[in-house]
Order: sequence, then structure tokens, then C-alpha cells
Amino acid sequence: MLSPASAFPYRRPGCPYCGHLIDHWPRDTNLQSCQLCLRPMVLLRWPTDWNGPKRLRGLLDVGFALYGLLTIGLVATFVVTGLSPHAFAKGFSVLLFIVGSVLAADGVLGLRTGMDKTGKRFRSGPGARVFAGGKLASGLAAILLLCVGLTL
Ligand SMILES: [Zn+2]
Repeated sequence: MLSPASAFPYRRPGCPYCGHLIDHWPRDTNLQSCQLCLRPMVLLRWPTDWNGPKRLRGLLDVGFALYGLLTIGLVATFVVTGLSPHAFAKGFSVLLFIVGSVLAADGVLGLRTGMDKTGKRFRSGPGARVFAGGKLASGLAAILLLCVGLTL
């Protein structure tokens, strides 16, 4: 049962977070929230293949991947160009903003929906809320560290 506006003419993908099957994707957007777990998903139209579910990614996973890549980039810049420790600390603070906001958003949504995925393990119910609360707390701690870093 696919609508003509569906972005998935061959195979219905599931939410990258909870696996909930997606019925409809508006044609004019690349970003939408899962109806079940409320996590934002991003539709990568390029360069991955057009019709596979591989191109549907959780926005929070993308944020984490970006954080990882930028951290490697920052450390490499520090090592190669002899960046000052002060500039390194500033750069690191900005990276903390990415990971902090991702963790805080995941935590808030986890508390709201009672669903959590940490690593490959998916949880629901009270256990998930404990993990979500932990993520929210660590996200807020990262944002606090960011504020400290910006005052350096
Ligand atoms: Zn979902």
C-alpha cells in the first residue's frame, strides 16, 4: 500500500532507530520524525543507491558519525599543524556541542516515548527511560563543558 508520493517504490524501509515501517514520505522533504519513536530520520538521496533502505539514516546517528569524524580531524590537525592547545580546546568545545545536543535530544525523546537504543541494543519501558535519563544528563554535562570551554 504505497502512495504515489512515496519515496520508496520497491521496498518499505523501517525506522533506523526502532524498525517501525514507514508508510509515507513527503516528496519535498529529506527530514522526518518516526511516528513511533519520534526520532528524526534523514533521507540521503545521494550518493547512496536510490531505492534501498540503506539511504535512510537516523539523524542522531549522523550527528554521532559527524562528531567522530570531526574529532579525528581535530586531533589530526593538532598533531600535524601544531595547533595551539588553546585553539584545540576551543575546537573540542564546539564538538562537544554536537555530541551534547545529540545526546540531549535522544534523551528527551527516550523519556517521552519510553524507547531507547544504546549501541545495537533496543530497549523499551522503564529500563529505556533510565538509559534516556542518563543520555539527557550526559548531554547536558557536555553542553555545560562547552560553556566552560568557550570561556577559556
Ligand atoms: Zn522509530
